[in-house]
Amino acid sequence: MIDRDSLRSLASSRSRDGVFVSAFFSTSRLDDWRQTAPTFLNSEATGLLRERELDKEPRRRFQEDVERIQEVLRYELSPQTEGLALFADAESGRFDQIELPFRFSNRLVVEPTAYLRPLVHALALLEPFVLVRVSRDDGMIYSIDQWRLKGTEGHVGPYLKSTDRETGDVPVKEYYAAARQESLVEQHFKELAAALDRTVDEIGASRVVLAGQHDIVSNFKKFLSARAAGMVVAETPLDHVASAAQLLVDAREALTVARHAATEELAARITEGMGAGGRGVGGFDDTLAALRRGQVQRLLIDRAFRPPGWACVSCDHVLLAPASACPLCDGRLVPIADGVGEAVRTAVLQGAYVEVGENLPALDSLGGIGGLLRYA
Ligand SMILES: [Zn+2]
Repeated sequence: MIDRDSLRSLASSRSRDGVFVSAFFSTSRLDDWRQTAPTFLNSEATGLLRERELDKEPRRRFQEDVERIQEVLRYELSPQTEGLALFADAESGRFDQIELPFRFSNRLVVEPTAYLRPLVHALALLEPFVLVRVSRDDGMIYSIDQWRLKGTEGHVGPYLKSTDRETGDVPVKEYYAAARQESLVEQHFKELAAALDRTVDEIGASRVVLAGQHDIVSNFKKFLSARAAGMVVAETPLDHVASAAQLLVDAREALTVARHAATEELAARITEGMGAGGRGVGGFDDTLAALRRGQVQRLLIDRAFRPPGWACVSCDHVLLAPASACPLCDGRLVPIADGVGEAVRTAVLQGAYVEVGENLPALDSLGGIGGLLRYA
């Protein structure tokens, strides 16, 4: 499992030798991973030892880390795991194993600090959310955490029988009963709204999807707390024969669309805020500098933007263009596969939100990375 605290702890760890090991594997049965993952790790590690001139001690520690990872690949994994992330640093004794419900691309990264970007991408996709299915006479609250449906809470509302089932007529004497039923429905909506507030707190969700007939959902929304109403990102029509699993699939699709719209809006806000006195910053160098100053509230990165770069072993500064030494501290530079990884690590360290965008023209114009500042 990943949570923001363990991510932050990983972000703060570093190797003085520049050999902090981050490894990612697909452990899906489809990929025949028991064969491919150890082979991949071996060949990457061998190549790396050939390329890098490591001193004797760092070399030994790196081999120790790789051996420990091989052991995990040989034995310990829960069956539902599809992706595995491992972080190892024999120098500090650090060894973290994180299993996830979807695949990673196989990758071995050996840098001065942990490479957290794949995990942050995963967190963005696996955010917990709440789905509420609502009708006038019952309701169901589904809480979905990083892995799957975590809890279901049923709410039985009033038993409505105001009309004649055969003719649809409402007899006069039942007119008063119907008025009373309206207040029962309101009571039911109130209870469901209160339960939603509790569930949101329990699982730490920030997004809610409502499922039901449009007019009923609209009515129900009037009973939501202002906070919960602000979390509703999508409504899906209710198909009475749909299973809970199908409802969840629909809700996830609606969430994806909502998430894309949110990143689009963020890119637009950053673009509008560019320039002196504004709250926007864009481009790799300026965004990283703002991150280091603790100015960035929300970092936005393009999923596909992975520029190679150089990292300073002493101060973690990252350059996208080669240089003989670190321009800030004259420290030694080592090549890194993805310069944005350092921006992500800094954001995690500082508690800034990281949003991952895809196919956003406004983000392309910013250079694949940008930030919304806490203050102008
Ligand atoms: Zn430096």
